[in-house]
Amino acid sequence: MSTENYQFVILGGGINGLSCAMRLSNEFPCSTIQIISEYFSPNTTSDVAAGLWGPYALGGTSITECRRWAQETHDYFLQLWRGGDADRCGICLVPVLELYETDTTVPWWYDIVFGFSKTKILNPSDHDDSFLTAFTYITFTCEPTKLMKQYRDALSMRNVTFCQKQLTSIRCLENLNIHPNAIIINCLGLGSQCVSNDAELFPIRGQVQKVKAEFVFHSFANESCYIIPNTDTVVLGGTKQKDNNLQVNPVDRYDIRAHCQTILPALRHAVPVKDYVGLRPVRYSGVRLEVDNAVFTSGENHIIVHNYGHGGAGITLAWGCAGDVMRLIQEYGIQRSKCMHYKL
Ligand SMILES: Cc1cc2nc3c(=O)[nH]c(=O)nc-3n(C[C@H](O)[C@H](O)[C@H](O)COP(=O)(O)OP(=O)(O)OC[C@H]3O[C@@H](n4cnc5c(N)ncnc54)[C@H](O)[C@@H]3O)c2cc1C
Repeated sequence: MSTENYQFVILGGGINGLSCAMRLSNEFPCSTIQIISEYFSPNTTSDVAAGLWGPYALGGTSITECRRWAQETHDYFLQLWRGGDADRCGICLVPVLELYETDTTVPWWYDIVFGFSKTKILNPSDHDDSFLTAFTYITFTCEPTKLMKQYRDALSMRNVTFCQKQLTSIRCLENLNIHPNAIIINCLGLGSQCVSNDAELFPIRGQVQKVKAEFVFHSFANESCYIIPNTDTVVLGGTKQKDNNLQVNPVDRYDIRAHCQTILPALRHAVPVKDYVGLRPVRYSGVRLEVDNAVFTSGENHIIVHNYGHGGAGITLAWGCAGDVMRLIQEYGIQRSKCMHYKL
């Protein structure tokens, strides 16, 4: 914990923005934080996710960085689960069965989840579908809407303010009277396409249906669909289309139900609760987590830490990425005090 009193302006109120707010206010409790966002939970992309821990659709993100962020988030979920916070934060340990029609290689994250096992199905014709490989393991689901509510409740008791506002560029901040020394943290997800002019970002559309199906305790997935139990509903998914249409598509809805019912026929009794569409913020070269400068027309110069482009794994990486944001600011603080020392 540090006694530095920074002024942070966090852009974006999804899982990444709120995770950064939590870690920064834990580490720098004397600082103030302003979170600026067009929408907050339950109206963010993060709210659409079932929150299964598993690296997915991460563009060119390096495995070394991804492993560090994913491991740190997994450790954090374990700590919340063991500490008795599982229910409040929507965290469950869930057995997973993944089926593939080809001989699929073991993923690099096999040793982070619990009990990973690969089975080669020797006589695929004995089964309904011709699956050749099965992966089984136990991982966490962390329901973003529940976790974000916990974060918001905790942050509301600290030096944190929330401001609902749409930004069209970083320079919109000039009209918001932010502190001249404010450090900006950019967690706008897909919003960075226009606010940061990032042409590397693109949406991968995901449509899901949340249903009531109390009999589902396992997660299942194959190349066409997935079934993920949350605490109150079960999430049936999903599409992965390079498209930015946020409307629910009835054809996708039909296909999702049909594919999921092939895996688990009892789902034909599942009562639909609501269909959702979210756009995964994928970046060709992978997650952008780095320090940059934002220069305003007045000449005011702000440090900006970018943290966006988490693709289909924002919930899996958020706590670990927020840890790197915090460490970058600690390094910046050390550099800054060295400079001040030289000036004296
Ligand atoms: C169907 C689906 C299923 C998924 N399942 C999983 C899963 O099981 N596990 C997993 O780890 N990940 C999953 N993901 C991916 C995950 O949801 C995303 O990676 C994650 O939500 C990204 O979080 P974020 O905070 O960066 O962005 P967001 O949640 O999109 O938050 C961005 C914030 O910025 C604000 N904003 C954007 N533009 C502007 C602007 N111009 N001005 C002001 N504010 C703005 C928004 O209002 C929002 O508050 C899934 C995604 C989808 C769509």
